Amino acid sequence: MKPLLAIAGAGFAGSVLARELAESGRYRVLVFDERPHVAGNCHTSRDAKTGVMIHHYGPHIFNTSRVDVWQYIQRWSRFGPYINRVKAHTARGVFSLPINLLTINQFFGKRFSPAEARDFLSSIGDQSIREAHSFEEQALKFVGRDLYETFFYGYTKKQWGVEPRELPASILKRLPVRFNYDDNYYNSKYQGIPEEGYTRIVEKILDHPEIEVRLGERFDPASRSEFEHLFYSGPLDGFFNYQLGRLKYRSLVFERFEESGDFQGNAVINYCEESVPYTRISEHKHFAPWENHDDTVCFREYSKLAEPEDTPYYPLRLTHDKELLDQYIQLADAEKGVTFIGRLATYRYLDMHVVIGESLDLSRICKSSQPRDWPIFSVRPH
Ligand code: UDP
Repeated sequence: MKPLLAIAGAGFAGSVLARELAESGRYRVLVFDERPHVAGNCHTSRDAKTGVMIHHYGPHIFNTSRVDVWQYIQRWSRFGPYINRVKAHTARGVFSLPINLLTINQFFGKRFSPAEARDFLSSIGDQSIREAHSFEEQALKFVGRDLYETFFYGYTKKQWGVEPRELPASILKRLPVRFNYDDNYYNSKYQGIPEEGYTRIVEKILDHPEIEVRLGERFDPASRSEFEHLFYSGPLDGFFNYQLGRLKYRSLVFERFEESGDFQGNAVINYCEESVPYTRISEHKHFAPWENHDDTVCFREYSKLAEPEDTPYYPLRLTHDKELLDQYIQLADAEKGVTFIGRLATYRYLDMHVVIGESLDLSRICKSSQPRDWPIFSVRPH
């Protein structure tokens, strides 16, 4: 009999790993998920009433520059062409985001060339900031106070619940500033949306004779000894019964509404004003521009601090959280027979493609070594 592995969590982290290890021919895999569906926060399904594909835990747009990850995901689904072109609703009007040449020219009423816009932004950026240590410093250094206050201050305060000066610069570094008319939200080489959604992809990944999936069943740590090894993708602090306290997360609340026709003419519109209580409205039929639907389903998205009963989304990672994380890492390092994988178990802000890439990398390590030598973390959090 082949050794049996347990995987807690049927999101991308656990499912990709389950498939790779099952396909190695050396293991059987049992995958647990407490939810009634696979795919974790990427879960999608077609709305019974309108036929629109709904991203139940918020918009997920697949983008990556890793060719192996792009090839891997295409093995499971056809991808429709989709480029994320976000619009920002601000006190000064509606603009293209990320900040690009159109945004700059329209915002300042100019007709700058790329080189002129670059010089202009350096002239309004705060050059006294040598190395930006916070979100606010990063913004003030690169785009100056006017653009910062219009596009970033209110949105970020709503999204993270703290002043942007308390947040790391890395959060803003996710967004490019461009001196051309490219309004693609991402810099990735590949981008698209799976035609039949993410849940269908994960169902196919898990459809293998050596994989059994138990939905609606939380992994019971007491059963660990029955398995050769455990891959755990739940919250790191939860694994240790929150014994040192809770790592903080932001959670999201979605307020659904329906309209006929086209509500906003775009998949995502960010509301950057502090006075508007939600951060953005997403209109899901626009994520599949190749489909036709008479009616439309939209979601206002609100951000809040995650309470114990809420779904954790974004790791907050303020100073206190990082200190607590270090203590949980020490506890994890003392464990045997477990590997912590994915966004929640490594307490990092991760996109889908990164999670898939990390699971593919980890599976290569696991396939070329014995379980006793498998690492404690897929990627060590810091
Ligand atoms: N952000 C902002 N205004 C916007 C969009 C983003 O201030 O209109 C900031 C915000 O702090 C956000 C960060 O930039 O958390 C990264 O944005 P991204 O779109 O990557 O966030 P996600 O889509 O992952 O929520």
